Amino acid sequence: MKALTFPGGVHPPYYKAISMSEPLRGAPLPLIAVIPLSQHIGAPNEPLVKKGDHVEEGQVLGKSGSFVSSPVHSPVYGKVLEIKKAFHPVMGPTLSVFIERNKNKEPRGYVEQDVEEFSPRELIEKIRNAGVVGMGGAAFPTHVKLSVPEGKKIETLIINGAECEPYLTCDHAVMTRRTQEILKGIEIVIRILQPKNTYIAIEDNKKSAIFAFQRMIKESTYKALLGIQVVLLKTKYPQGGEKQLIKAISGREVPPGKLPLDIGFLVQNVGTLYAIYEAVYFNKPLIERVVTISGDCLNRPGNYFVKIGATVRDIVEQYGVELYREPKKIIVGGPMMGFAQPHMDVPILKNTSGILFLSEQRARYFEERQCIKCARCVDVCPVNLVPTDIMKNVRKGYWDRLEKLHVTDCIECGACMYSCPARIPLVQYIKDAKSVIEGRK
Ligand code: SF4
Ligand code: SF4
Repeated sequence: MKALTFPGGVHPPYYKAISMSEPLRGAPLPLIAVIPLSQHIGAPNEPLVKKGDHVEEGQVLGKSGSFVSSPVHSPVYGKVLEIKKAFHPVMGPTLSVFIERNKNKEPRGYVEQDVEEFSPRELIEKIRNAGVVGMGGAAFPTHVKLSVPEGKKIETLIINGAECEPYLTCDHAVMTRRTQEILKGIEIVIRILQPKNTYIAIEDNKKSAIFAFQRMIKESTYKALLGIQVVLLKTKYPQGGEKQLIKAISGREVPPGKLPLDIGFLVQNVGTLYAIYEAVYFNKPLIERVVTISGDCLNRPGNYFVKIGATVRDIVEQYGVELYREPKKIIVGGPMMGFAQPHMDVPILKNTSGILFLSEQRARYFEERQCIKCARCVDVCPVNLVPTDIMKNVRKGYWDRLEKLHVTDCIECGACMYSCPARIPLVQYIKDAKSVIEGRK
């Protein structure tokens, strides 16, 4: 099978072996869960509970009347201690519900139901009620993505198992340990969208996941699954970007400013497919996810089922993840697109794929130097931008020119910054440019 890819990109050290072969572990329940009310792209949620309320596991804590939003649920039985601002790993202080777990209550059981009779509309409603969002990064509400507007049609569904960020192996863990469940999730999405083609796309450094899907599809009794093709991707960063996947598999480009939907494609992450399976088959809301715990400062790295609302401190203090040296950097997400945290009191969110504890050596602290005009940043950019020009125009405040440089097409993958020998923080310049352009609209 030939490995497909896209133009540009980089090959950082992957460090996936640290966690890849470890078992998929359960994790202790948090004593106090911190649930930010909004964990999605879209309208913010309003709290539906108040201080002192007793809550059930799976109870809705906050929601919005807007279609482009996603409710949040309690991950445990317990009591609302407070509703106040807590540190969100990406957005900073954010209104959150603090729940003290009732230690006398066992976790709730979820009963499997027959899903054959559900219409596409009912399936979407179940996914919406369960608060499912894109778990591969952006946290866009999944029910919105699956509600294709009239006049549009999804011809090609791509299941994203690329997992191109260094260190992260949570998608690999789900693909190899929950293969059948993901296929059931795919079958649900196929029933909703009726695509002509469905691909499961996996990088060639995850052969066990490729074999697992190939074998299960061959043995499947579901007619809809038999036509699925498992495609091999070259291991390259950012292979898991939606536009890069579409380019690699079909050769087609999503035009600047457009969405995959505009050319008949829909990309869905494997972790999200697992959440869809649980939402539809078990009415289970998205209250836990698999998180990679990795780095070069800890014992017991691996992949853990973590409740949404558990904090990084819970992971260090309760999971046996002993830090044997002081990390220089704690990152939520991967090292290329993740966010460095100032402390450990930050909660796991629906789209938290990893927590990395990195030493000074791995954290890549370098002095910024002068641009040497080598154009490496241009060569690696997967969306054909000229990061060095963007940087120069931001420094000079030439905001009008920046729109012509298509800054808003940047996917903030960090490949340019990674390849820059002058260690210029190009992504920061791009983010600054985007926020100025957004503010001028
Ligand atoms: S300019 Fe944006 S899309 Fe291009 S390499 Fe840099 S971060 Fe990635
Ligand atoms: S990679 Fe860095 S040094 Fe080279 S042109 Fe781009 S910004 Fe300049």
